[in-house]
Amino acid sequence: MNHKETFLYKRKQNNNNDFVMWMAFPGIYSFSMSSLGYLWMFKTIDMIDGVNIERICSDTEKTVFNIKDVNLFGFSFSFDMDFLTIFSMLEKYNIPLKAKERTNEPLIFAGGPVVTANPEPYKEFFDFFIIGDGEEVNLTAVNICKKVRDKNSALKLLSEIGGIYVPKYPKKIKKLTKKLSECIYTPIISEDAFFKNTFILEMSRGCANRCGFCLASYLNLPLRCVPYAELIRTIDLGLSNTAKIALLGAQISAHPHFHDVCKYIYEKIKSGQKIDMSVSSLRVDAITPDVVQTLVAAGQKNSTLAIEAGSERLRKVINKNLTEDKIFAAVKTARENGLRGLKFYGMIGLPTETREDLQAIIELGRKVKLENKGFDISFGFSSFVPKPNTPFQWCGREDTKTLEEKSAFLKKELHKIGITSNISSIKWDYWQAVLSRGDESLNDFVLEVYKTGGKLGSFKASAKKLNINTDYFALENYELDKPLPWDFIEINPGKDFLKSENQRLLNIAT
Ligand code: SF4
Repeated sequence: MNHKETFLYKRKQNNNNDFVMWMAFPGIYSFSMSSLGYLWMFKTIDMIDGVNIERICSDTEKTVFNIKDVNLFGFSFSFDMDFLTIFSMLEKYNIPLKAKERTNEPLIFAGGPVVTANPEPYKEFFDFFIIGDGEEVNLTAVNICKKVRDKNSALKLLSEIGGIYVPKYPKKIKKLTKKLSECIYTPIISEDAFFKNTFILEMSRGCANRCGFCLASYLNLPLRCVPYAELIRTIDLGLSNTAKIALLGAQISAHPHFHDVCKYIYEKIKSGQKIDMSVSSLRVDAITPDVVQTLVAAGQKNSTLAIEAGSERLRKVINKNLTEDKIFAAVKTARENGLRGLKFYGMIGLPTETREDLQAIIELGRKVKLENKGFDISFGFSSFVPKPNTPFQWCGREDTKTLEEKSAFLKKELHKIGITSNISSIKWDYWQAVLSRGDESLNDFVLEVYKTGGKLGSFKASAKKLNINTDYFALENYELDKPLPWDFIEINPGKDFLKSENQRLLNIAT
């Protein structure tokens, strides 16, 4: 199927097929076209002389290049369950899944948050991994593979580069952190994207708040912000090609010029330009009248607010430090300035959570609803999944039965007071936790899961067949001095800091 795409840069015309690369997205085309990191990486590699790069998605029917002509095959790996689609894409092109079974096939690599945090459950399937911000090292990797055609020699060279993990040549790897002096944006706009014709740009990377469970924060410290002039230049580029714009960043409101950017867009709208703008989840302190007015003028009707937990006590334990008064004030501001509703995001099963903390969510919902009649309030929950390289990496999850009871309780009680809620699947979250804290013994497990269909039942059956104690990865509380499978990846601020933060936060509870 031909998709209508607008390129915001001039593509290099490579007239020979000397070096061909496939950049793969483990999902369908429409999702790939709303994936900022994936598209940006495609663009930067596309600009290298002598490289022919093609995008491949799970629903790609016909490729321009034949697999036998492909020299390098890269995957974006952003979600734990992406391995299922990655394996099916490899099989579609008759590529053996394990690296040691590949001979004439291209080198295959992956990058993204999942493998940056802990590549061990997948180490047998990839020749190398990009650890951290890949914008620059990707180019180095491509250039090495282009110059050195012998796979083994290329891998040896790659293993000597900072931020590249070659499982064949294990060593300590320092996570790469990019300065955000330039603005990363979607360099191609597509009518068939999930966010149709939307120009997405990254305002900031990381979040300085450091919630104890948050991989997005700990993987991306320190918080970095794109300079204002660069932001405006990029916004103008986007708006000269489409009316739809999305601002991205885990904590965009911490950008020192967030309000200036809103003002800039608001003034354009007031002078008659049609702009449809959305922002990623807002922090409570970002809900000010001018920001809400800009969002409303730009067509946004609802927004999301991450509160994470219902009680102030638990919010302190997770380092969210958000008072109830601030939540009430934010809802009032949102309502008074034209938003029609807010969706609160929270998590159940956080370390030290008690029945009172759950009850506090209901109470919060009740009070907010009472004070804001006619305003649409809903809740979305996921369950706590311990993530590597966070202060809560040592904390096990609660068992599935307990979490399902909590989930049913919340749903029922919120429904009673007229608030709709949706809760992520506790069972899938369990398997996510297994993979998150997994070690290399899970390589055969993920393969078995894939081969037996990749459904919930396959996870359970595969663990049984291979005699893997998955509760150990998902549920167990680990001792602080226990060696962890991902210890060889060095991420600032480092394990000693995570340990002291773990102790500080969990002691708040007592
Ligand atoms: S505020 Fe949000 S993005 Fe920042 S650390 Fe907390 S959960 Fe993560």
